Amino acid sequence: MATTKLYLDNIEAAYETKFSAEVVKSNDNGVVLDRTLFYPLGGGQNWDEGTLVGPNGSIDVLDVKGREDIIHNLGESHQLEVGDEIIGEIDWERRYAHMRMHTAQHLVSGVAYELFNGVRTVGNQINITHSRIDFKPISFDEDMLVELTKKTNELISLKYEVTDLTMMRNEINSIMPPERTNMDLIPSFIDELRVVKIGDSLDLCPCAGTHISNISEIGEISIIGKKSKGKGTQRITYELSNSEFLREKKSEII
Ligand SMILES: [Zn+2]
Repeated sequence: MATTKLYLDNIEAAYETKFSAEVVKSNDNGVVLDRTLFYPLGGGQNWDEGTLVGPNGSIDVLDVKGREDIIHNLGESHQLEVGDEIIGEIDWERRYAHMRMHTAQHLVSGVAYELFNGVRTVGNQINITHSRIDFKPISFDEDMLVELTKKTNELISLKYEVTDLTMMRNEINSIMPPERTNMDLIPSFIDELRVVKIGDSLDLCPCAGTHISNISEIGEISIIGKKSKGKGTQRITYELSNSEFLREKKSEII
């Protein structure tokens, strides 16, 4: 059975950092748990780091991968066995940086689509200190980057809420163009999707990542680099200022 992804329960679940779980698979390098708050590498976002505390003490989680079974890589010296109960805790600073950066990506991608003739987001990489988005087709000049930054920061200052919901493919496509949401890249047999929404209808995007619950937590965005990737694709790099609206983690064990 697939690992239950506790961080996906709702938007607020991404603020939880501590959980209990049971080891359901174990090998020399790591374990699969029945449920987890650790986000695995995927969708351009890096994995969560943190610790698992089991019968033999605390073990660092080195990386996290997988879609159905989520594999917590612990290195070779871990002694966890199937049936062990663990307490997991994720590194909040890292998780929260990813939540802010990732939600900023949704916003920047949506604003760029509206400003620049439906330009598509064709890739992204979410990191702690800076993140990247690839757009196509586009040739950004200085004025365009200033406009993109200004419009994005204006929206952040309006403090829109971020919510998640489950929607059907047709419903999503009736609200947002499929080339804006990248719905046309999602296999057609998937009909029901988890959608992340900014405001009432500012942005809508199928996504299984971790996000903040209000865009004010992004702070201020600055575009710090632009690079051509060939064939009409350009990559922008952005960073975020510290926000006065930073949220605290919720540490309780579910
Ligand atoms: Zn997302």
